[in-house]
Order: sequence, then structure tokens, then C-alpha cells
Amino acid sequence: MTEELVFILVFVLMYAVFGFARIYYRRKAAKAKREQSDRPPKTKPIRSVAHTAIAISILGMLIAYLLYLFVTPWFPWFPLPIPSFLRWFGVIPCAVAIPLLIWTHRTLGRSYSPELEIQDQHQLINTGPYARIRHPMYTVFILFILGTVLLTANLFITIFGLLVCFLLYPISKQEEQMLLTEFGDQYRDYMNRTGRFLPRIRQYPRQEGES
Ligand code: SAH
Repeated sequence: MTEELVFILVFVLMYAVFGFARIYYRRKAAKAKREQSDRPPKTKPIRSVAHTAIAISILGMLIAYLLYLFVTPWFPWFPLPIPSFLRWFGVIPCAVAIPLLIWTHRTLGRSYSPELEIQDQHQLINTGPYARIRHPMYTVFILFILGTVLLTANLFITIFGLLVCFLLYPISKQEEQMLLTEFGDQYRDYMNRTGRFLPRIRQYPRQEGES
């Protein structure tokens, strides 16, 4: 078996486990939403240019994943010159992302929604990974995407993957604006204690206008 086939197998394994966990929690959220259809969300879902752009980028990334899977075994399809040992390092962020995804979903519980919206009786979560990071689920996505970028070493997966990662920044800002409107000072204090995608290092209060 060629080394590329081993990379493909490892990628499929990682993607299957990650995808399974993601689908499980999304279905659970959808079920909870159906059960409380008498209590609809408080706000309309936020949709912006960044959302359209990320939806297109995710689609591009999924198509690139599929093409990588089915074309690469026959001939190299836009490979990136990443040394093999570095590609193997991609396993680490992927493997770390899986338990972190489960932890964030379990912690966010009913406050999770695939849309940016405020639920009826929405609870502000500040425990588990949310005690230090405001968007741990997005951190998980970034970790997993970067891991697959390394593992697959493919130009199109890299382009669309990086686009998705960058677009999570404006989306997280819109999400924070929404949560600030809902929770006011409680969320402002929470922002002072936490980092956006990584734990906050500086502990002094942020200045007005600082992001
Ligand atoms: N951006 C977060 C959550 C993604 S799920 C993360 O990366 O972990 C998106 C939903 O989570 C949004 O509809 C928002 O209402 C909700 N949300 C985000 N942060 C939250 C928090 N600290 N407490 C409660 N709900 C939160």
C-alpha cells in the first residue's frame, strides 16, 4: 500500500469519528427543538454575508475532500509539497478535536443551535471549555480543519479550509454582539475573563472598543 493510501485511510477514520459525533449532537439539538416547538427561539437567526461565504466555503471544502478521496488514489490531485513527517502531525489536532467537540457540545447543551439565535430561556454557559474560551466549538473546527489540511496536503482543501477558519472570526463577532444584546454586563464580564478562540492570557479588563 502506498503512503498516500495510508493518509487517506487515517483521514477517513478521523472524519468518520468527528462526523459521527457532530451528527449525533446536531440531531439531538434538532429533536429538542421539535419538542419545544411551542417555545420558539427568542430571536430570528442572524444571517450575513459571512454566513453565505462560510456556507459556500464549507461546500467547497467537502467537495475537495471527496475529490481528494476518489481522485488521489489514481493520480496526484493538486498535491501540496508538505513533507511526509509533517503530514503525520495532522493526526494530533484531529485526534484532540474529537473529545473537545464532545466536551463543548455536552457543556453547551440546550444553548447549542446550528443557527446564531437566542433560545427561549437561553442560559449563558461559562463552565467547562467555556470557562476560558468564548468559542471553543469554533476552535475545535479550526483544529480539525488544520489537521485535515496537513493530513491530505491538497491545494483545494487548504484554500477552502483556510477560508472557513478565517470566516469564523466575523461570525464569532456577530455572535458576541447578539449575546451582548441579550445578556449585557453579564456577557461583558464574561468577555473580560475569556479569550475568543484560545484561553485569555492577560487578565486585566479589556479597554472599550478592544476586541
Ligand atoms: N460559538 C460557540 C457556540 C457555537 S453554537 C462556540 O464556538 O463554542 C452557536 C450558538 O451558541 C449560538 O446560537 C449562541 O446563542 C450560542 N452560544 C454561544 N456562546 C454561548 C454561551 N457562552 N452561552 C450560551 N450560549 C452560547
